Amino acid sequence: MLLEVKDLWVRYGGAEVLKGVSLEVEEGSVVSLLGANGAGKSTTLRAITGLVVPSSGEIWFDGERIDGESPARIVSRGIRHVLEGRGLFPYMSVLENLKVGAYLVKDKAQVQRALEDIFTHFPVLKERRNQQARTLSGGEQQMLTIARALMGCPRLLLLDEPSLGLSPMMVREIGKMIRNVHERGVTVLLVEQNTRLALDVADTCYVLETGSVAACGLTRELMKSDLVRRAYLGL
Ligand code: ATP
Repeated sequence: MLLEVKDLWVRYGGAEVLKGVSLEVEEGSVVSLLGANGAGKSTTLRAITGLVVPSSGEIWFDGERIDGESPARIVSRGIRHVLEGRGLFPYMSVLENLKVGAYLVKDKAQVQRALEDIFTHFPVLKERRNQQARTLSGGEQQMLTIARALMGCPRLLLLDEPSLGLSPMMVREIGKMIRNVHERGVTVLLVEQNTRLALDVADTCYVLETGSVAACGLTRELMKSDLVRRAYLGL
């Protein structure tokens, strides 16, 4: 198992936000974390990358325990977290933003290969490589944010609501991009409110409800359950 989260509890002030979340992400898979606003999806990702400290529980990555490590150490293990909202450098060009994503990669030839790979798979970024990031459309900015994370050659990519605020057409484009990332061997843990997108790209789904896992399983199995479809997936 590439990532294992075991009985994770997170508290903000007096409020328990995660109440014993456990989940597993197999190497090479796409796993989706679904759930209503405030269910604790983003908090789960933040705990994995060390941005919040759990009150108890364990997080294991590639056979090593990582909870309690600094975010910088966790990044250096090959985990990249694309946060909600875009966090690009608005006055830097597309190319400069991409290069920032590779700051930990020492091998210049590897950086060049990652860049060529991104330009081949996402040609719109190549066309716009000299344009300032702030002048891209919302969907293009989201694409750039994901591509920037890929420049670090991650093993595990955590995506927090990549479809947020995008038109249906751009949501489909982001779906294609996630499939493409997956085909290139990167493992993905995806937080989404857009159930259609999540079900479309994920092999396995976890549904969070007020800080606990309410349902989980292979996407195709969950889709067969009328109860899960109605109660949690809004279908
Ligand atoms: P959304 O889809 O709306 O982003 P989510 O499932 O990702 O929701 P979280 O962002 O993990 O949910 O938040 C879970 C709960 O924790 C919410 O009730 C939220 O208000 C609360 N929360 C999040 N961050 C903090 C914080 N820094 N301080 C206090 N409470 C917080």
